[in-house]
Amino acid sequence: MHKPVGRFAPTPSGYLHFGSLVAALASYLDARAQGGQWLVRMEDLDPPREVAGAADAILRTLEAYGFEWDGPVLYQSQRHAAYQAVIDQWLAAGLAYACTCSRKTLEAFNGVYPGLCRDAGHPWQGAAIRLRVPQLRYGFDDRLQGHFEQHLGHDVGDFVIRRRDGLYAYQLAVVLDDALQGVTDVVRGADLLGSTPRQLYLQELLGVPAPRYLHVPLITQPDGHKLGKRYRSAPVQAQYASAVLIRALRALGQRPEPALEHETPHTLLGWARAHWAAHAIPRVASLAEAQLA
Ligand code: GLU
Ligand code: ZN
Repeated sequence: MHKPVGRFAPTPSGYLHFGSLVAALASYLDARAQGGQWLVRMEDLDPPREVAGAADAILRTLEAYGFEWDGPVLYQSQRHAAYQAVIDQWLAAGLAYACTCSRKTLEAFNGVYPGLCRDAGHPWQGAAIRLRVPQLRYGFDDRLQGHFEQHLGHDVGDFVIRRRDGLYAYQLAVVLDDALQGVTDVVRGADLLGSTPRQLYLQELLGVPAPRYLHVPLITQPDGHKLGKRYRSAPVQAQYASAVLIRALRALGQRPEPALEHETPHTLLGWARAHWAAHAIPRVASLAEAQLA
């Protein structure tokens, strides 16, 4: 069997917080425990939402926590030409089309776009670009969460691959880049379970293999919100790296010996690689941070 290729793909809209650390740790351990590669990709697709310096701060924090990645970091901001080439191809083939619907018009449809502009023939310039979806179910067996599927027509609708302001959509970029980088195992937060069927359809259209998926529990705040900058969750601190890593390992159902707290992050990650048990991760979509040991 080929060695796995995993990746961590943070968005630099904030610093590394506990929830993203848990996702980084799970993908790292899952790949490295099997002798595989682990890549880091910066998903800097949305400059207006970026926090200045966050991309570098995330990388420095990963280093302080003992993570080592293979090869250079891929920046999605450097990949626009590749994204645009695919969009142009799909527009020309009639698989994608321009949508001029206003936010207000879209509000009525609860996020499932009913295809209003499908046959309108709007010019592509200055419009959002949507991909037509087939009236089919797309599903997969998540390594942790079990079977998950959605009917793309009923549950999702034709979805945006390039926004009206010209920014490329996460769904398209993530699929193209996972394929480019040869990622075999996507390990990420369970908030992205509902994006996966769209990504499976994109892979089918592009003729690229689907990776295996493992969606780890999302770490939530007491109010049930995802941890993140928006809810002012604290960035993880470099000086407590070992203690925070132990909490992250426990959140993933691993059982680090308490004495490891006094070891360096490097030593701790070595222990964690040798003892990694993916099957011990709690089979839930979210965990409240406050309830973690
Ligand atoms: N950039 C995405 C995020 O930070 C993760 C993408 C992925 O892992 O597929 O939520
Ligand atoms: Zn429209």
